[in-house]
This record gives sequence, C-alpha cells and structure tokens, in this order.
Amino acid sequence: MMQRSYALNLLDDKVGFGRALINWYDEYQRDLPWRQAPTLYKTVVSEFMLQQTQVVTVLPYFERWLAIFPDFKTLAEAPEAAVVKQWEGLGYYTRARNLKKLAMVFVNLEPPPKTPEGWQALPGVGPYTAAAISSIAQGYPQAVIDGNVVRIATRLIAEGRLFGGSAEAHRFLSPLVQSLLNVERPGDHNQAMMELGATVCTKANPLCVKCPVSAFCEAFRLGTPESFPVLLKKVLVRRQVARICCVHEGAILLERRPSTARRLADMYELPHAEPFGLLLEKEIPVLIKKRGIAQEIIEEPIYQVMKEALSDTTLTRADLHWVPISEVDQVTLSGPHRRWVKALLEKLY
Ligand code: SF4
Repeated sequence: MMQRSYALNLLDDKVGFGRALINWYDEYQRDLPWRQAPTLYKTVVSEFMLQQTQVVTVLPYFERWLAIFPDFKTLAEAPEAAVVKQWEGLGYYTRARNLKKLAMVFVNLEPPPKTPEGWQALPGVGPYTAAAISSIAQGYPQAVIDGNVVRIATRLIAEGRLFGGSAEAHRFLSPLVQSLLNVERPGDHNQAMMELGATVCTKANPLCVKCPVSAFCEAFRLGTPESFPVLLKKVLVRRQVARICCVHEGAILLERRPSTARRLADMYELPHAEPFGLLLEKEIPVLIKKRGIAQEIIEEPIYQVMKEALSDTTLTRADLHWVPISEVDQVTLSGPHRRWVKALLEKLY
C-alpha cells in the first residue's frame, strides 16, 4: 500500500500543524517594535506600513512615526502635509492619507470596531488589513491571506492549478487557510504565517529543511516547492517618460502633482519634459532611471536644461515651483525623486 501524502496529514491534523507553527513562532519570531508592548494603534500603523512593503524598509519609519504621532488623537489632529512628509520614501502615499483619515474617524468612534467587517468600513482598510488588525490586536478568529499565505498554502497541498490573479487565488484558498487557523491565538498564528512566508517559505530557495511544518507539506515531499503557486504571468508594458533638471540662481525647478492625482497627490518631482516642447532627441541625458510600477516598466531619461531654454509662458504654470536648493529637504518628494534630485545636485551643481 502506498504511503499517505503529507497533504493528507495536514487535513487530518490541522491542530498538529497549528501547534508546530506556533511553537516555532514562539521561539524564532523576529523582535519587531510593534510586537513590543503591543497596542491597537501600533498594530494599525504597522499594518498600514507593511502593505506592499518589506519589514526591513518599514522599521525606521515606524520608530520615527511613533515618536511624532504617538496615538490616534495626535495623528488625527496633524496637518495632512506633515503626515505625508513623514511617509516620504515609503511609497504608496495614499496609505498615509488614509491612515490619517482613519485616525480622524477613529477618535470619534465609541466603541472601536471589533470585527473585520467593522474595520473594513474605515478608510484604507481592505480585507487583509481588517483581518490582521482584528486578529492581532483584538483576538478575532479571522485568518489573513495575502501573497505569502497563498505561497505557503499552495505548497502545503501542492495545488498546481493556474490562478488568473491574486483575487482568484485568495477565493480558492480561503477555506483551507481559515480552517488551519489556531482559534486560541489567531493573531500569533497569522503573524507566524507571515513570518514563515517572509523568512522560510520564500519565493525562491525556500528553506524547507528549517521549516517547522515540512512534515505537513506536499510540495516538500514532492521536492518541488518552487513550482507553487502557479500564477498567470503579468504582461509588462514599457514606456518612456523624459524629465528635466533645471537649476537657476540657487533654486531647482520642481513640478507639484495635482491634489486630485490618484498617485503622489501634492508631491513634488522633477518636471516632465514633454509640456516644454523641447527638442531633446539628440541630447544626452545626465541620468537614465528605470523602475517598475505595477505592470509598467518606466524608463526616465533626465536632461539638464538651462532656464533660458524654457519659455516664459510655460514657466508660469501653477504647478511649477522654484525651490531653493537649501529648502529641498523641506518639500515632499517621492523616494526615487528624492534620490535623483540629490544625485543630480551632487553631479551638476
Ligand atoms: S516545507 Fe518548504 S515549501 Fe513546504 S511550507 Fe515549509 S518552506 Fe514552504
């Protein structure tokens, strides 16, 4: 008779799986600032910061944030520009604005939400964040599911079906993931899953020999963990966005994004070249930057331009600002533009 697969053991022994996971977490969890003297506020802030962002990137931001905005009330009363400034470099700035809006709603709520549905009614809180906050800070028995958890779950059961996107994978795997939840310690269980995905069951080269749940894992038994999950490949679109760097009388020309912009509202960046109608095709850029945003690969050549080359009419645009170089640190730029401006000023001026 053939030996039973590990996946069957998982379904037969979910309690054993949960115990192995939580014991490992108790012993090896990383020492993270939001886990020290945890509060609801620390959990909310850390979960917002951790959306789409790695722990190592979040750490310095979290410490600084807590020092400046120590609670919901301080955050609710802070000017939005100051809040976004503290988020500078962390990316996805809508999170900062939503976190402030959430604080403004929260301070008038009595009592605070206690369920994932209640949290989802607040600004910037989707299903994942709602499950994370309510389970970690309030002990609500709701499993979280994101890319890390999808990877672990599909490997545990060696699920090889093609998922058209993350929403489809979440829908399919949710019942399994929820059934594995340790209902006595749901917050720790969820954090353990995230920790496992971030440090052991990684996308490439998972450390199966160190994995606390390898005995339950079908992909490990098959020796093919990296084959899972199977996700439809994104089609990447390439485009080019030319920008200019213009410094005149100790000030640099920057463009302010509209308040209504979906991304980076009210933030400053190097101006787009196109509206100036310059003939740049034959010019050599001083810098060429490439970055991926969502499903786009954007190449951004940056050209050094003299003020005299820019027409006076164009320069009267309300979104263009001459920012004294000595004050550049005080305006809010996105992380890449902050680095580019610094590199350009060092290189050229
Ligand atoms: S055994 Fe390997 S593939 Fe399976 S959950 Fe652990 S790290 Fe992931």
